[in-house]
Amino acid sequence: MPVGVSAAQWTDWAWQMQHRIRTAEQLSRWVRPTEDEVRAIALLADRFHFVITPYYASLMDPDDPDCPIRRQVVPRTAELNDPAGLADPLREVDHSPVKNVIRAYPDRIAFCVNNECALYCRFCLRKRMVGDEEWAMKKRELEQGLEWIRSTPEIRDVLLTGGDPLIFSDDRLEWLIAQLRGIPHVEIVRLGTRLPVTLPFRVTPGLCRMLRRYHPIWVNTHFNHPKELTQEAAKACDRLLRAGVPVGNQSVLLRGINDDVDTMKRLCEGLVRMRVRPYYVYQAQLLEGTAHFRVQIERGVEIFRALRGRTSGFAIPLYVLDTPRGKVPLLHPYLRGREGEDVVVETYEGGLWREPNPQ
Ligand SMILES: *Cc1c(COP(=O)(O)O)cnc(C)c1O
Ligand code: SF4
Repeated sequence: MPVGVSAAQWTDWAWQMQHRIRTAEQLSRWVRPTEDEVRAIALLADRFHFVITPYYASLMDPDDPDCPIRRQVVPRTAELNDPAGLADPLREVDHSPVKNVIRAYPDRIAFCVNNECALYCRFCLRKRMVGDEEWAMKKRELEQGLEWIRSTPEIRDVLLTGGDPLIFSDDRLEWLIAQLRGIPHVEIVRLGTRLPVTLPFRVTPGLCRMLRRYHPIWVNTHFNHPKELTQEAAKACDRLLRAGVPVGNQSVLLRGINDDVDTMKRLCEGLVRMRVRPYYVYQAQLLEGTAHFRVQIERGVEIFRALRGRTSGFAIPLYVLDTPRGKVPLLHPYLRGREGEDVVVETYEGGLWREPNPQ
């Protein structure tokens, strides 16, 4: 907590939002920015500019530009050098029956209800919309999305995402969730939010009291590195869990941030200590400005293979590639094939096991 800031201010999410870091000068109160970072901030000012909450900035290493927290949120000129990157690699816009409703599956949708976030992650899949006014949702547009869901009875699972739905006020979020609850075929509502990681004070007791009135509500959050597993973040997850909300985690596999076995293991084991279930780890998409974050898929597969058998089964997330046609698991092939009547499988230690196949 910086000098001159009271604990009451620091833990007030409105204060945190108002005091976000938006310039190189403000950043230099937290870290010693490199020349490359300062240049990138200027060059990216009108493309995907940067915003950081003071809370998240307080986790950055002031001297190490390769700090895994800093690399997630401070721009680098490498973002300007990505010939393969696309603005919308999942062609989400083509899969939207109405604005910001993304349908990749018959029974469930992602509904991008908000274009704002507490901070902007440099690898954000929804860069094209985050912070861009054109993608903001007016109440009338939210109503159009709700109307589409109401008239599409196959939809049993609605994921509210964005941007970040918890940027909404409690009242606005409650209105939206209550509308969904009024649709008989909507069985579950999920919230995809990074605020437990980037602004944990947003998860207030009042928010949790509201959410518990609309169960079943599930939350998936987005921790990428063990340094993010702070007391404050753990408390935010605990408040959700005590309100009966199961909390899961989705990470992105990011080069130099979490693409080694030890870091991934510490992240996953730290999450289960907080009672947060590691759900997915995403392969980083071919997204503009992110070449420096991408990891080879074979390397990703090896990381999760190395965890299998060496930590609690439920601490191991599923490594997936998202495609315009849904998510595809990226798994080491443990099922090696058939030999006569037997099926041959590989154990976690790399040995083979022959199992007589039931007739
Ligand atoms: C990821 C995703 C979902 C949810 O998928 P689950 O595998 O059920 O978690 C739904 N819709 C879209 C468009 C998605 O990208
Ligand atoms: S919190 Fe999520 S939606 Fe927001 S900038 Fe980060 S990755 Fe993108």
